[in-house]
Amino acid sequence: MPDNPILIAGGGIGGLTTALALAHIGQPSILIEQRTRIDEVGAGIQLSPNASRILMELGLGPALAKVVAEPQRLKIRSGKSGKRLGSMPLGEAMQSRYGAPYWTIHRADVQTILLDAVRGSDHIRLAFGRTVAAIEDNSTSSVTIRCDSQSASERVTGKALIGADGIWSNVARLMGDPSKPEFHRHIAWRGLVAKKDWPADLAADETGLWLGPGAHLVHYPIRRGEFINLVAVTSDPDNQPGWSRAGEPSVLQKRFASWHPDAVRAIKSAQDWTIWSLYDRPPRTTWTDNRVVLLGDAAHPVLPFLAQGGALAIEDAHVLSNTLSQDADNPMDAFAAYAEIRKQRSAKIQAAARRNGDIYHLRWPFSIGRDLAMSRMELTDHYSWIYEWRAS
Ligand SMILES: Cc1cc2nc3c(=O)[nH]c(=O)nc-3n(C[C@H](O)[C@H](O)[C@H](O)COP(=O)(O)OP(=O)(O)OC[C@H]3O[C@@H](n4cnc5c(N)ncnc54)[C@H](O)[C@@H]3O)c2cc1C
Repeated sequence: MPDNPILIAGGGIGGLTTALALAHIGQPSILIEQRTRIDEVGAGIQLSPNASRILMELGLGPALAKVVAEPQRLKIRSGKSGKRLGSMPLGEAMQSRYGAPYWTIHRADVQTILLDAVRGSDHIRLAFGRTVAAIEDNSTSSVTIRCDSQSASERVTGKALIGADGIWSNVARLMGDPSKPEFHRHIAWRGLVAKKDWPADLAADETGLWLGPGAHLVHYPIRRGEFINLVAVTSDPDNQPGWSRAGEPSVLQKRFASWHPDAVRAIKSAQDWTIWSLYDRPPRTTWTDNRVVLLGDAAHPVLPFLAQGGALAIEDAHVLSNTLSQDADNPMDAFAAYAEIRKQRSAKIQAAARRNGDIYHLRWPFSIGRDLAMSRMELTDHYSWIYEWRAS
């Protein structure tokens, strides 16, 4: 058991990166994850320079470089006509402008790399198969929580508790915030295609974004380009309970049947689809309570229309370890400073993602204005405020 550890609830991208960032400053932690093992659905994630830079600083660059793909450009097209609406250079252009790559990666790969690093650290203890169920004491000197497993309950005491337990955060509820995320009336279909099954004449080395009425489609390479990750987001008032479930390909194909033949072929190339219901919530006003603090989706879930939710969780981990490194004996001040630093940026990104969703799905005639504006827009400049971010 590490000495005077910080407790972390949740072993997603946010929790794992936080444990590593704390280890980096010599701060021990116990990472408590409710799942018994981490098995990510077959889907990808984009790691923009603001996030990849931090992962590289944590020493994960070489491991990541072996499994990532690095798309050469983002190309935005009209879902109906196939007309090019805009593009943004990625690849080398990102590296030279921001000093860090724009990577795309399989979620299982990034989780495995984070988890391997966590397992290799003397500063981190992993506690899988345990749910953070109650905060029993949150005093001026320590925090005691109750963790439930299938067979028992146990009490764990630490210097502080970081709630990195996702959009449905129980830690936030235990802090006294009863609000729940709301169904955003959109669902995300996620599919994976082996490169050999991807239409040979469709670019495989770029991120493709197709915009249409009430829906959009994204595809990008992952795992050294051996697979193409597809995400199709459709408006859908019918939420079904459950986090992820199998999707019927014919339903999706019908939804996109009137789209440009290239978008249709991209969709038809994936056989298996998983559906995620998209949830949203306004920014939380309270992030800290004494020795407890929220991080990642628990504090500020981001709709996936800007590919920034995971990146923000990674940024959070970095900032939190910075503020703690200044006075590790006084987590309350460090947490307050962290919340102060992070609230504005995360709210701005949450709002920008929401806005992107509205813009992406505009219907005629409003889409005409969007297409015109997009074709005149310098996308790299437009998104620079996101990618160039560094902790001050
Ligand atoms: C379709 C889609 C595409 C996306 N694409 C991108 C992208 O390209 N780039 C990007 O940066 N982001 C993307 N995101 C967002 C990103 O996936 C999330 O923002 C990110 O995973 C949040 O990480 P987290 O660690 O904060 O939360 P989570 O990943 O939700 O992790 C929370 C963890 O806490 C555990 N947990 C929950 N409750 C408890 C408890 N009481 N006790 C113990 N453990 C608990 C859970 O089991 C889970 O492992 C996308 C999201 C979606 C839906």
